[in-house]
Amino acid sequence: MIPFNKPYMTGDELYYIKDAVSRGKISGNGHYTKKCHDFFEETLGFRNCLLTSSCTDALEMSAILIDINPGDEIIIPSYTFVSTANAFVLRGAKIVFADSYEDNPNIDATALESLVTPKTKAIVVVHYAGVSCDMDMIMEIANRHNIYVIEDAAQAIDSYYNGKQLGTIGHLAAFSFHETKNIISGEGGMLVVNDERFDKRAEIIWEKGTNRSAFFRGEVDKYSWVDIGSSFLPSDVTAAFLFAQLENLQKIQSRRKFLWNEYYKGLKELENKELLKLPDIPDYATTNGHLFYLVCRSMEERDTLISFLKDNGVYSVFHYLSLHKSPFYSEKLENSNLPNCDRFSDCLLRLPLYYELEINEQQKIIENVIQFFN
Ligand SMILES: *Cc1c(COP(=O)(O)O)cnc(C)c1O
Repeated sequence: MIPFNKPYMTGDELYYIKDAVSRGKISGNGHYTKKCHDFFEETLGFRNCLLTSSCTDALEMSAILIDINPGDEIIIPSYTFVSTANAFVLRGAKIVFADSYEDNPNIDATALESLVTPKTKAIVVVHYAGVSCDMDMIMEIANRHNIYVIEDAAQAIDSYYNGKQLGTIGHLAAFSFHETKNIISGEGGMLVVNDERFDKRAEIIWEKGTNRSAFFRGEVDKYSWVDIGSSFLPSDVTAAFLFAQLENLQKIQSRRKFLWNEYYKGLKELENKELLKLPDIPDYATTNGHLFYLVCRSMEERDTLISFLKDNGVYSVFHYLSLHKSPFYSEKLENSNLPNCDRFSDCLLRLPLYYELEINEQQKIIENVIQFFN
């Protein structure tokens, strides 16, 4: 069986973990946490980064930072992972779901204006498959209404909007290093602070509501409880693992992008014959080889293709079940008609894409898909 995903180990992970252990300090904000922060800030050009235990954590930190009060509204796409919404629901926010574009699962920026109310506090955008949302339009609407933009950049490492790294555009951004993402640490994530007004408080919330970081820098003479917060920082063992991955970022990325392009070329003919749709990458966006999807013409066809591939030794999967139809949230909504989002839920299929996927395995997958449609 060709699996859907296989986490890639670069080979240096245990070396750095051993080093972290031998340094005798493996709690958070240690040697390797700083090395990762430096890599993100100095090599990749992010402004201010804080490693977290997950992207979910980074989103929860964002919700605390923008001071959500019960009743505040947050606009998010319905076609996303639950954490995008849950982080804000935990703080009492009301979620307003937006639809996807017709030809792209990302949030439809042209529909945002009509969703903004005096209670709107933030728009959370998700760069689905690492493909950028329409950031100029989104930032313009947000700035005009004085609301925050938070990028759920969980899938968006090494991907760009008009040349700008995703996660550097909104006021805050959240990345994931879960083992299903491009760069991994098992569980892991990062908050990026792009608006300096959040710098000081982000560090406090990260360190359980204390000014411990300022204390260790010698800025205060004792550390105390100064705000709400939680234990958002990962152990230095996790950071050591992540550092090994970061050093191999370009190598991992060039392989993943190569495989993505092979799928695209191999399946293009089926799209030309209007048998399926392939990802549509807007001019302002790039692909980072995070995931490869195709869109079938109906749910029945999609489900039959999944079974067909399985019978031929290939695991493929679908996602996301629209959040506006979820058992938890659907009853809280008055009306929500999000046809594009529903169509991606029903018809989108993801093919195996991971560093160690071999060319002959990928050719077999492509041939199977072609055979199915013929
Ligand atoms: C993976 C993912 C998350 C959650 O990331 P964790 O690190 O597992 O918390 C959130 N949003 C999106 C869009 C994701 O793809």
